[in-house]
Amino acid sequence: MTRSALGPSPLEENLRYLANSIGGRITGSMGADKASGWAVEALRHAGVDEVHTEKFTIPAGWTPAPAHVEILGQTKLSVEAVSAGWSPPTPEGGITGNVVDVGLGDAAGFAKAGSALRGAIVLVHTVIPSSWEGLRREGEAGAAVAKRAQNMGAVGILWMAARPDPSVERRSATLDGQIGVLPQAVVARGDAERIARLTAGTTPVKAHFEMPNQVTGPVESENVVAEIRGRENPSRFVLLGAHLDSWGLGDGALDDGCNAALVIDAARVIHASGTIPRRSIRFVLFTGGEQDMLGSRAYAKAHSVELDGMVAAVIFDRGNGRLTGYSLGGRKDILDAVRTALEPVQPLGAKGFTLDAPLFTDNFDFLLEGVPTLVANQDVASFIVNDHTASDTFDKVDIAELKRHVAAAAITAYALADAKMRIGPRQSRGEVDRLLRDTGLEREMKATGSWAEWESGERGSAP
Ligand SMILES: [Zn+2]
Repeated sequence: MTRSALGPSPLEENLRYLANSIGGRITGSMGADKASGWAVEALRHAGVDEVHTEKFTIPAGWTPAPAHVEILGQTKLSVEAVSAGWSPPTPEGGITGNVVDVGLGDAAGFAKAGSALRGAIVLVHTVIPSSWEGLRREGEAGAAVAKRAQNMGAVGILWMAARPDPSVERRSATLDGQIGVLPQAVVARGDAERIARLTAGTTPVKAHFEMPNQVTGPVESENVVAEIRGRENPSRFVLLGAHLDSWGLGDGALDDGCNAALVIDAARVIHASGTIPRRSIRFVLFTGGEQDMLGSRAYAKAHSVELDGMVAAVIFDRGNGRLTGYSLGGRKDILDAVRTALEPVQPLGAKGFTLDAPLFTDNFDFLLEGVPTLVANQDVASFIVNDHTASDTFDKVDIAELKRHVAAAAITAYALADAKMRIGPRQSRGEVDRLLRDTGLEREMKATGSWAEWESGERGSAP
């Protein structure tokens, strides 16, 4: 399989087409539909047994419009901004209000601003993340800040970009796929700093903020699913997945186009090897990845009766940096079995296994269902600086590295599907509950609003 993955392959052309010809693909948009149509064809070419799409409904359709911020008064300043994902539009005619700086947007920053926040546009500072942990905190911060702003009577939020100037990222205004509570836009760091300097004076600074995003009711999206059927136990399966959608500022090459192309090419490599594993392998490209993993959540729900037979979910969603191993989502109990089963992947660099439990990727709903999950651990490389920005383009992907990852993904999925024994059992609800507390996921889920869904049984295995 390694030779087939590293040799001549359709991988590069596939990614080039997805990134350059289809480009941005926000869940529910025409771009995302085009991408799933393309993925069906590409998987058919890969030679798998069966390919189909599975529709699901997302709470709202969303199309961003250009955002514009104008500082009024003596010092005129006109700034282009980028709408936060799933942000509501500004009301007809835009918003006019004083800009109030709340620092990093923590409780102290809001308390200090106090009553000045009523009817105001909040300016929130950010830190440029340099690690996966920093990126996770960036994802987590939004919900709490928006809630504070709303509670204090603010009418809009301007975020300082958390990417080096002049780059601007699309951060998410919501973590549940619903339209967010306040109009939110991101402005380049330099612009945000200029606005902050103006507001530091004694006279209030007024601004006009306009962003006519289009919002609709629920819309359909679709996951793309292919299968290589196992020879002994076809109803048992390993899932190899990545997300097909992107935030649409750039071409979503690193996040997560390269890994969507990887999943397709891993299917080709396994099929071409002519060997059939004991259990099945499903290759799944999720949409809704950027909207609180709506696609994988829908998949777990639609397939709930099959999950006892699901051996593992293997997810790639960390760009193109060197693969170092897998995060096992807090499952100490599977560590030895995974290490043994994945010996063949060691020469490709995947030798380290970590027990952290990442929140923001498509393994999450499988973890909540008690299914063992493996999320590829990779070096940050050029991921963060380009993530969710206009610079996430094809040229950022190192194809030779991606080919090595195809080999690793193919061998990983095959090894887990073919191992004599499963790497671990499906956990009970009680065991998952303990894992959520032990790994710190409970705290993060509370911060991001998904804990209630777990507690009510709406999400995760039923009691
Ligand atoms: Zn992603």
